Parts: sequence; C-alpha cells; structure tokens
Amino acid sequence: MDGRLMTVPGMGRLAETRRPKVAVLGGSLIGLTAALVLRDVGCDVDVYERSRAPLEGRGVGIVLHPMTVRYLLDHSLLDLGTVSTSAAWHRYLDRDGAVLSEDRRRHHFTGYNTLYGSLLAAFGRERYHLDHEATGIAQDDDRIELTFADGTSASCDLLVAADGVSSFARRAVLPTVEQRYGGYVAWRGVVDERELTPATSAALDDSLTYHVGAGTHALTYPIPNYHGVVDTGRRLMNLVWYRNVPEGEPLADLLTDRAGRRRDVSLPPGAVRDEYLKELREIALSDLPPPVAEVATRSATPFVQVILDVEVPHMAFGRVCLVGDAAFTVRPHAAAATAKGAADVWALAAALVRHDGDVEAALGDWEPPQLELGRALLRRNRDLGEGAQFRGDWVCGDPALTFGLHRPGDSADMHLS
Ligand SMILES: Cc1cc2nc3c(=O)[nH]c(=O)nc-3n(C[C@H](O)[C@H](O)[C@H](O)COP(=O)(O)OP(=O)(O)OC[C@H]3O[C@@H](n4cnc5c(N)ncnc54)[C@H](O)[C@@H]3O)c2cc1C
Repeated sequence: MDGRLMTVPGMGRLAETRRPKVAVLGGSLIGLTAALVLRDVGCDVDVYERSRAPLEGRGVGIVLHPMTVRYLLDHSLLDLGTVSTSAAWHRYLDRDGAVLSEDRRRHHFTGYNTLYGSLLAAFGRERYHLDHEATGIAQDDDRIELTFADGTSASCDLLVAADGVSSFARRAVLPTVEQRYGGYVAWRGVVDERELTPATSAALDDSLTYHVGAGTHALTYPIPNYHGVVDTGRRLMNLVWYRNVPEGEPLADLLTDRAGRRRDVSLPPGAVRDEYLKELREIALSDLPPPVAEVATRSATPFVQVILDVEVPHMAFGRVCLVGDAAFTVRPHAAAATAKGAADVWALAAALVRHDGDVEAALGDWEPPQLELGRALLRRNRDLGEGAQFRGDWVCGDPALTFGLHRPGDSADMHLS
C-alpha cells in the first residue's frame, strides 16, 4: 500500500493539466491527512516535517471521531475494531468514588501512533521529508518559495501549513496573533491496567470516567498499550487532569524542566521536576476519587500540556492556508481538534476540485466555512473549560458536555467500518 495512489470516493479528480504542486508543512496527523487527500484528487504533494525521526514517541490517546479516521475507513486501510478500545458508559464519580451519574454512550479511543503509522504507511516515505524545518516563506502571484533551516528550498503552487500550535507559517502571515493561556494545564499520564487494583479496575470498567471538583476536573479512559494491544486488562488507563495554574511565575516554574530549560506549550514525559510530581501525587490522594487518584499516583511519567486558545481572523493568504492546530488551537474538552483539522483538509480538496485546480479561487471559497467551524469549536471548548475550571457550573451527566465536533455527541456510538 506504500505510496499507492487512491481516488477519493465522490470527490472527482483534477484534470491532468490542472494539478497544483503542493507543499504540506508539518507531517503529523493533519499534515499527513492533507497530503493523502490532496494527492488522491491529483495534486503533486510533498510533506516537510521538522522532526529528524518519524513521530513515534507520543503514546497518547486520541478519542475517535468519524472525520479523524475518514481517510483510513474510506480506503479500508485500518480495521479500527482491532486497534481501538472503547468505553460504553459516561460515569461521573464524586470525591469519595460514589457514582453520581451514569449514561450509556460509547466512545472509541486509539493511540496517536496507530493513526500516525497508518497514515504514513499510506502516504509512503518517498515524499515525506524529515529534518526539514521551514524558516522562510516567500510568495508572489504565481509561486511560493519555502526555505529550510539547512539552507535548501522548495517551491510550490499551494502551501498547506499543518505545523501545529506554534505554527511557523501562522507567525509569518499573522504576526500579531498570539496564543492565549486558558489559566490551567492538562496533566496527562498512563498506567498499565495490570498495575491497577481490582477495586479500581472495577470502578473504571468500560467507562469514560469523570470527576469534577472545585477548580478542577479529571477523566480516565482506556487506550491501546504501546504495542497496540487492546484486550481488556492489558491496555493502558489514560488520565487527563486539568488543574489551574496562575499565569506568570507559577506557570513558568512548572514549565521549567529538569535540565532548567523553560518550555512553552508542554513538558514531555520525563521532563517534569520531582517537586511537581510529588505535589501532583499528594493532591491526587486528597482531591480525586480513589480510583482516579490511583491512576494519577501510579502513572510513572506524568506530563503537562498547557491549555491554550489560538484564534485566527483568516486561514487563507494568497496561496498559503492554515489548517488544524496551526489555524485554531482549541482546548481538548470536546476531543475534536484532530477531527476539525481533518475537516479542514477534506474541504480543501473538495474546493480545489470544484475550482478545477485554481488555488486562489479554491482558497477563497474554502475559507469562510472553515473559519466558522474553527470559531464554533473554539467557543464551545472555551465555554466547557471555563465552566469546569472557573465557573463551577458543570452538571454531571449533561449531554452538552459530551465529546463531538459539530455538536456534542457526534463522535459517540460510531461505526468502525
Ligand atoms: C490534553 C490534550 C488532549 C487531546 N486529546 C485529543 C483527542 O482526544 N482527540 C483529538 O482529536 N484531539 C486531541 N487533542 C488535540 C490534538 O492533539 C491536536 O489537535 C492534533 O494533534 C493537531 O494535529 P496537527 O497535525 O494540526 O498538529 P501537530 O500534531 O502539533 O503537528 C504539527 C507538526 O508540525 C511540525 N512542525 C512545526 N513547525 C515546523 C516547521 N517550522 N517546519 C516543519 N515542520 C514543523 C511539528 O514537528 C509537528 O510534527 C488533544 C490535545 C491536548 C492538549
């Protein structure tokens, strides 16, 4: 399957003479999805990724949404039933671990590596250029010239910037747009299910488990283990725990790693200083329901992601477009950021086909609905986060709190084939 050309069902294909040369910046989930969908409608696509090695180190869970995996499902490239875990219940626990509410709503989860590996295998390695950090973008009426940190360059008709939350391309085209700190961070961790006590395993069984406390909330759900194993009892229990941290010195200090280096948007596994790990474990025991606290305290290398909002006034700039987190970075409460990025790139391919490969006309047509989608998701996630962390008005079991892209719940009960 490596590098094989597919067709996109129902979308058509550009004529031989109207096939733009496309550079995709960033080779993560959205960059790869863009590369595949655009190649399949007939574009001539290269991906440029800053990382020197394939992105295989992120053992984090992704809540599945039909849009996130549309490419893989359309082409039967992955049997999601065998590479995903699921939870049939949404369960809210109080501080003592008693069940406050329980609703039947199934969500599926997989690992970042599973999706990334499948998308990369489908695109192939020939035109996936690692160790290519873009450092310059120049645009005239007809072409874009990209330059890279090693002094090499590439030209294209369309630049699709999928270079994430700290996007270089966004800084180039929108220098005044800033990341806005949400006032809290997500602590993330995983524990091998085999290390959990029977009582905790039973309490978290088949469930997306929430706890909402004063100024905090936490959730757990099962994800495949690092080898992709999805059998109950051998998976990883994934924790996301949102904790308020004032901006300024407290946040700066938390984000200073063991080597004394100040990080910006995350502290990877192994980088958090011991005093913060100790504090995390102590507060877990005092503030979280016992089963959730057990996941927090047994997690070997908890790590931190700063909760940020990025809102852009435009996504299209001549022959450059921003997609995924490079455009809108949204808080993770609706678990739909990857789905939003995928929606951006599917819509882009459709617009290019509609406009017969005319890049600027296609981007003009594409931009308004994607801006609306990004704004709506950003607003909903911000409201969810503010409600849990600051207003204290989350109502346990409220369906409005369910994961989803266009509306709460549109990623629940999905069919995996
Ligand atoms: C706590 C938390 C939980 C989450 N849970 C979910 C979830 O359950 N479901 C979900 O859908 N989403 C979730 N997300 C969001 C999800 O992780 C992101 O939306 C998604 O990874 C964004 O993908 P992306 O490809 O746009 O950007 P990224 O994955 O950030 O990739 C950007 C890529 O660009 C590369 N790059 C950067 N700069 C350059 C440059 N100058 N030149 C070349 N390459 C460059 C980087 O190396 C990187 O590989 C969560 C996020 C957080 C913080």
